[in-house]
Amino acid sequence: MVMGGRHGLTRKPRAVGIMTIFLGFCLVSSLWLTLYSIVRARHLSVEEPLDFTSGLQNCQDAKISKLVALSLQDPTLGGLLPALKEYEPGQCISRTEEGPIRIPSRFTPSPYLVAKLRLYENRHRKCAPKAVKLSKNGTNSRKELGDCQFVIWIGNSGLGNRMITILSAFVYALLTDRVLLLDNTSTDIDGLFCEPFPGTSWLLPENYDYNWMNTVTWENTNRLGRLLQMSGFGNITIPSPVPNDYIFLNLMHDYDEHDRRFFCSRIQKQLKKVSLLYWRSNNYVVPGLHFDHSFHCKLDLMFPERATAFHHMARYLFRPSNSMWGMILRFRQPYLDGARRQVGLQVRILESNVTIPIVADQRARPPDLLKHRSSSYETLIPSFRDFQLLACVLEKEILPKGSSSAEDMLLSSKTRSTSVLVTSLDSAYYETLRNYYLEHPVEGTDYIGVYSPSEELYQQYGSDHDKKAWADMYLLSLSNTLVTSPRSTFGYVAQALAGVIPWFLTKIDSLETANETFQAHGPCNRGVSLEPCFHAPPALDCEGYGNGLNSSNIFSFIKPCEDVIGGIKIMPSYANDITAEGKTESRSERKT
Ligand code: GDP
Repeated sequence: MVMGGRHGLTRKPRAVGIMTIFLGFCLVSSLWLTLYSIVRARHLSVEEPLDFTSGLQNCQDAKISKLVALSLQDPTLGGLLPALKEYEPGQCISRTEEGPIRIPSRFTPSPYLVAKLRLYENRHRKCAPKAVKLSKNGTNSRKELGDCQFVIWIGNSGLGNRMITILSAFVYALLTDRVLLLDNTSTDIDGLFCEPFPGTSWLLPENYDYNWMNTVTWENTNRLGRLLQMSGFGNITIPSPVPNDYIFLNLMHDYDEHDRRFFCSRIQKQLKKVSLLYWRSNNYVVPGLHFDHSFHCKLDLMFPERATAFHHMARYLFRPSNSMWGMILRFRQPYLDGARRQVGLQVRILESNVTIPIVADQRARPPDLLKHRSSSYETLIPSFRDFQLLACVLEKEILPKGSSSAEDMLLSSKTRSTSVLVTSLDSAYYETLRNYYLEHPVEGTDYIGVYSPSEELYQQYGSDHDKKAWADMYLLSLSNTLVTSPRSTFGYVAQALAGVIPWFLTKIDSLETANETFQAHGPCNRGVSLEPCFHAPPALDCEGYGNGLNSSNIFSFIKPCEDVIGGIKIMPSYANDITAEGKTESRSERKT
C-alpha cells in the first residue's frame, strides 16, 4: 500500500508532466499552424480585387485571404465548373493547380447560369458525336442530326480575337440550346486549352470537310445578309426551308447592313429552324445579343451583374492545356512567384509599316511633348517612346517613383514587393522599365522586379506563336493591376480572366497631335467596365426601313466604350452616369 501510495504519489506528478508536455505540444503546433496559415495567406494575398481600385493603396489581405481559402475549398469556382470527378485524372492539371495563384473572383455565378451550363454539358455530350454525320455543305443534316442544332465556329485573326469570338458563339449556343463546335485547323485549340466540357470534345470531328469550310466566306450563297438581300422588299425574311439547312453568320467588323440584322428578334425567330449556323467573326457580340427580347431576359438571369458575362465565361471556357501549364509555370515560378503584388503591362504595337500606331511608338523624342509636364520624373524619361508607359504607371501611382539619390542603396534585407510583367511584341518597353528601376531605387524596404516572357518582334501566326501569346495573356491575368492597350482583344482576355478593370493607355493618332492628346487625356485612364468592347455594333434596322437605331441608345446599361470610338460595351450598374466615349482612342476603323 505504502509503496503503492508512494507510487501513486509519484505517478500523479508524472501524469501532470505528461499532460503539460502534451498541452505544450498542442500549443506550439497550433501556434505554428496559425503562423503557417498567416504566412500562406500573406503569400496568397492580393492588394486590389475587391474594390478594383489600384495603385499603391492599402492591402486587403484579410478579406482576400478568406476568398482564396474558399476558392481552394471549391475547385468548381462556385459551381461554374463541373465537379472534379467528371474529368479523367490528370486531364487538365491547370484546373486543380491554378487556385493558389489566381485571384479569386468576387462575383458568384448565378444558380441559373450554373444550371444552364450543366444542361449544356449534357447536350454537348449527346449531340457532339452526331457531328461525324455532318456532310459537306450540310445536306441531309436534319435527318442525321435529330433534334441537335449546332453553331460551328470558324477561326479568324489573332488569338485574342479568336478567344473573344469562341466565347461569344458559346453564349449564343447557351441562349439558343445549340452545341458549339470549333474549327481546329486555324488554331491548335487542343494544344492551347483543356476541353471545357467533360466526357466529350468541343472540336469538329476529324472527318470534317475543312476544304468546304474555306468556302464559307463573303461570297457564300447561304450568308445571312445575302439571303435577306435576295428576299426582296424589306429584306427581313429568310427563305424557308433554307437550301442545305445551314446559314453562314458573317459577324466580321466590316459586315453589311443585312448581316447586321442577325441582332434582330424577327431574324432570331427564323434562325431557330436552321440546324447549322456557321460563325465567322472578330467581334465580341454579347452586348448585341441583348437586343433580342428573349435573349435579354435569359442574359439577365445568367448574369445578374451584367458586366460579368465575359469574366465568368472566360473562366469557364479557357484553361491552359497540360503542355501550356508547364510553359506558364516555368516562367511564373522563377520570376513572378513570391511577390505580394503583380502589375501587368501590355503594350500592343502594330507592324512598323502601319501609319496609325495603337500607342505612342515613335523612336524620336519630340522635345515639345515633354514640355507640358514639370514633374520630377520628366528628367528620368529616356526617350519619347517610353514616355507614355512610364508616365502612366508613375502618374497614376500604379508603380512607385524611383529615386535618383545616390544615398538610397539597395540593402540585402530588401524584399521584392512587386513583380512587373511587361508583354509586348517589342522588348524595348520592358528594357526601359527594367533599367528605370535598376537605375532608380525605390524608397523603403521594397524593390521592384521587372520581367518579360517573350519577344516576338512582329505579329506572327501558327501554333508556336499562339502558345507564347496565350502564355503571355494568362500570366498577365494573374496580375492585381493591369495597364493594357485600347482596342486590344489580347488585353481583354487578360482582364476577363483576372477580373480586373484595366487602365487603358491613351491612343494617339500621330506625332503631331500627341502633345495635345496627352494634355487632354493624360497617358492612360482607368476603364469603367470589366466587359470588352463590341467594336463594330449594328445600327439596328429590324423593320428594314433603312434608318437604324443607334445601338448605344437602346439600353441604359449599354454605352459607348472607353477605348474604341463607335464601339459599345455593357457597363456595370454603378456606371450609370459615365459617358466615356473618346477618352482613350481617336477615330480609326482599323481592326486587327
Ligand atoms: P489584338 O490584335 O490586340 O486584338 O490581339 P490578338 O491576340 O487578336 O492578335 C494579336 C496577335 O499578335 C497575338 O495573338 C499574338 O500572336 C501577337 N502579339 C501581339 N502582342 C503580343 C505580345 O505582347 N506577346 C505575344 N507573345 N504575342 C503578341
